[in-house]
Amino acid sequence: MKHVTLIPGDGIGPEITEAVKAIFEAAQVPVVWDVHNAGLASLEAGQELIPASLLDSLNKNRVALKAPITTPVGKGFKSINVQLRQKFDLYQNIRPAKSTEGIKTRYGNVDLVLFRENTEGLYSGLEMYDERLGISDSIARITHVGCQKICDAAFEYAHKHNRKKVTIIHKANILKTAGKILLDAAAKSSARFPHIKLEDKIIDNMCMQLVDRPEQFDVLVTTNLFGDILSDLCSGLVGGLGVVAGANIGKDMAIFEAVHGSAPDIAGKGIANPTAILRSALMLLHHIDEHGQAFRIEAALEKTLLNKEQCTGDLGGKATTMEFAQHVIDNLAAYAPG
Ligand code: NAD
Repeated sequence: MKHVTLIPGDGIGPEITEAVKAIFEAAQVPVVWDVHNAGLASLEAGQELIPASLLDSLNKNRVALKAPITTPVGKGFKSINVQLRQKFDLYQNIRPAKSTEGIKTRYGNVDLVLFRENTEGLYSGLEMYDERLGISDSIARITHVGCQKICDAAFEYAHKHNRKKVTIIHKANILKTAGKILLDAAAKSSARFPHIKLEDKIIDNMCMQLVDRPEQFDVLVTTNLFGDILSDLCSGLVGGLGVVAGANIGKDMAIFEAVHGSAPDIAGKGIANPTAILRSALMLLHHIDEHGQAFRIEAALEKTLLNKEQCTGDLGGKATTMEFAQHVIDNLAAYAPG
């Protein structure tokens, strides 16, 4: 049995993690959940924003499934997500976006994997506010080391998964030195993998190209803020935020989480789509070498998604979160374990 830290989060987090737990239990996945709160949920329980027991659990298990956590806008605490990513140097944020049969979108053949640098850029925490002058300086720190690590990770992934092209996304026409650092790192990574095409695009043009012809892209690499925005854009190409998974990967720790947030507009209604967090949990299973279980649950999920009636409202169905999970469980029977 593998011990995995589970952070149920807040908003729709507890609802969608219940669905994953039920599906894993039905599939008899050899995982033991070590449940710890963070953020608003732990404040409400009278604990720290990031309780020491959670950090202990992460340090021990080195792998976690995390549901979304609300970050108040303006005043309030620093994002728990950003804190965890920086504390454990989870420098790769990997966000695949692939068309799924059964999910109707404008595009039928999208298959992208976005690599977002996850610890630097505008998320470095270098923000200075002069209330008297009404000035805020937000520094986007970009380093050679950080860029090299994310470019190497993307090229190594592309090589391992037989991908053909890596596109670097930047704003080097305006942010000249930051852009140069990223492009130099990409050229260095690319030299090790001459069979993989390297190209680069300016972020604004990239947004237009993604909406116009997403099928031309393969693996994408970019800095933190551009990656955050582009991954929501990419989710819109393949069925929305309810279906897109993600992983935060460091040298010896990995935290898996959906791209979406805590969705306060639908929280507590039991109607959130658990696909995105389930797909994140399947990435986790591959990470811990439980490939057979991951493929089996994925097959049951894909079968469920083929039947619109069995899906949640965001995909045009009427199922609740747990009804959807039950359909996935029922469909598991069609696929042999192992
Ligand atoms: P959001 O992703 O929570 O929601 C955007 C829209 O997508 C909403 O209409 C929501 O109902 C819908 N949606 C999201 N997930 C869905 C699902 N699983 N099923 C069906 N519909 C879904 O974005 P937001 O409203 O901008 O952010 C809400 C909060 O979440 C903020 O506090 C933000 O900071 C936080 N957030 C957390 C994370 C994280 O923990 N990793 C990521 C992004 C945002």
